Amino acid sequence: MKTIIEPFRIKMTEALPITTRSEREALLASAFNNVFLLDADHVTIDLLTDSGTGAMSDRQWAALMLGDESYAGSRSWRRFERTVREITGFKRIFPTHQGRAAERILAATRLQKGNVVPNNGHFDTTRANIEYVGAIATDLPSSEARELHSEKLFKGNMDLGKLEQLIEAEGSANIPFCMLTVTNNTGGGQPVSMENVRSVKEILQKHNIPLIIDACRFAENAFFIKEREQGFADRTLLEIAREMFSFADGATMSAKKDGLANIGGFLACNNDSWADDFRNLLILTEGFPTYGGLAGRDLEAISVGLLEALHYDYQRYRHATVEYVASALISRDIPIVRPAGGHAIFIDAAAFCPHLRASDYPGIGLVNALYLEGGVRAVELGSVMFGKPAPGGGEEIAAPHELVRLAFPRRVYTQSHFDYLIEVLDAIGRRRESIEAYRITEQAPFLRHFTAHYERAG
Ligand SMILES: *Cc1c(COP(=O)(O)O)cnc(C)c1O
Repeated sequence: MKTIIEPFRIKMTEALPITTRSEREALLASAFNNVFLLDADHVTIDLLTDSGTGAMSDRQWAALMLGDESYAGSRSWRRFERTVREITGFKRIFPTHQGRAAERILAATRLQKGNVVPNNGHFDTTRANIEYVGAIATDLPSSEARELHSEKLFKGNMDLGKLEQLIEAEGSANIPFCMLTVTNNTGGGQPVSMENVRSVKEILQKHNIPLIIDACRFAENAFFIKEREQGFADRTLLEIAREMFSFADGATMSAKKDGLANIGGFLACNNDSWADDFRNLLILTEGFPTYGGLAGRDLEAISVGLLEALHYDYQRYRHATVEYVASALISRDIPIVRPAGGHAIFIDAAAFCPHLRASDYPGIGLVNALYLEGGVRAVELGSVMFGKPAPGGGEEIAAPHELVRLAFPRRVYTQSHFDYLIEVLDAIGRRRESIEAYRITEQAPFLRHFTAHYERAG
């Protein structure tokens, strides 16, 4: 059959609020025109993030009941350790309450002031944890990543030439480790090829620099490799994931993504002396090393979820959904970043709203139009998120792009929900010149997008 279906049926439902346009006008106004300040109860289709928002399977819910809540050495920990080792091959494994806890422990134990950490694209919490200890987080995306609309297959790759130059300039002693983020979230959920992982490792090995994989979307990346890279079509996603991890010396993970769980993460490595440092700090800030800030039942749900994320039929359906929406938007002349990423579609709000300047915040205009039109919640990745206020008014840093992200929660929405989304965007697209300019009336000195207040500028 050509039709790719959701490879599950629904056993439990969760009601969606259906609101009227006039209700949404009032709700958005009372949220100061910032969708982050809306109650989730007033959002019909919530595409704010794919983090921790997925639906667990019946097997995960059943596994919760098997949770062993023993403080030390629980059965659930053993299962978790076995599963993570089966997928990654790492020798030492530590559960954490989220990905950023793993990053914090890694940064605090391995980095010193002035050290440099290269990455194809640091996620914001990774960057923040590295900078918090006084080290420098350097992004080395491939040059293809900057071409928003070109159909390159592995736009998440690291630039190998730039990596060599950086090592040359800094000296390997000042680079305690290098990271690769799969898929590259900051670059739009774009995949990293096996070839690139292998080449990065080869370069690092010559200089004795360990490679740490930010593995949040390891299964989505494995799917892209299977579909797009020569020589992998006949391999299972588990085999591909194992090969990917075989080039790494450690990994950080948020189980809120490809763990198909609502909370959790892990930190893993092969080096015993690193692991002892991780363990000691973990006990101080997360918990005993066999639970690391998670309940035994969470460890069970994650153990099941990590393997479910590697089911081919699941990944095929997930990517088909993203592609379905992407091609519908392209055919309606709605400019999106190409090719579509693994977990999200990014609309180019600047191209969508040529009547608005960056200082009009076209991303905010489009995000608010999505909510007013259909109760859809998306997020701006543009001058509000990446810019900051200049002391004398105006913007200090203009963002390179004005994007709006539609993130896809895992196993949550059906195709008719996405048909609805397409209809909403179609309606907005037909009168795109009416998307309004906004200005900021109140903002925090950093991470302002979460709490800023806006008003219509027109
Ligand atoms: C979400 C994410 C993290 C951080 O994980 P949390 O669980 O949110 O702390 C790190 N890296 C990437 C690529 C992510 O997507």
